[in-house]
Amino acid sequence: MLETLRDQVLEANFEIVRRGLVLYTFGNVSAIDRASGLVVIKPSGVPYETMKSEDMVITDLHGKIVEGDLRPSSDLDTHLLLYREFPSIGAVVHTHSEYATAWAQAGRSIPAYGTTHADYFYGPVPVTEELSASDISGDYVHNTGLAIVRRFRDLDPDGIPAVLVAGHAPFCWGKTAADAAHNAVVLEAVARMAYYTTTLNAESKGVSQTLLDRHYFRKHGVNATYGQKQDDSF
Ligand SMILES: [Zn+2]
Repeated sequence: MLETLRDQVLEANFEIVRRGLVLYTFGNVSAIDRASGLVVIKPSGVPYETMKSEDMVITDLHGKIVEGDLRPSSDLDTHLLLYREFPSIGAVVHTHSEYATAWAQAGRSIPAYGTTHADYFYGPVPVTEELSASDISGDYVHNTGLAIVRRFRDLDPDGIPAVLVAGHAPFCWGKTAADAAHNAVVLEAVARMAYYTTTLNAESKGVSQTLLDRHYFRKHGVNATYGQKQDDSF
């Protein structure tokens, strides 16, 4: 079932490892087939060295396993909530990549300090509020998703395809698994550069609105949007 999507999810899982975003098994990628509402996600705790396409787990949008012998990633419920709440996204990537996680642990959103950021994120990459004690002792993984959704109440998940969960790490998304992994890799680079920027000049004001618009819409303007819609059909 969903062989192409399985292959894409496996490949994106390998990509975040190749790019140095993942220690051991601290990362996961999923993607959704919107036509059927089925989600393909990395299994829990399987080493990347031996991971195969057949190991991917398929669930419905409420976590019921439809195909697969292994347990799905323990972050499944966060991924599922994002798919339910952000209908335009097609894949989710979660890592504990070092610099993005440092900003999350500091409880700081990443300001748009330069054009690399502006090419991918139309504004600061936001950080959620801290989870409450009852959020943590209750349905923690689901509540992590709720914290993200609350943070995006007035933000566009297509314009800002990443978030920092306070005290935890980033979640990124995209149209496809490759796209979401790419955003995770760029986020880590942007987070690293932002750390250096604020270290060198704590007063940095970042890009102007004009420069943010110039760079963001160059990649995501009307023409780029049409291009994405054409290959949006997985
Ligand atoms: Zn995590």
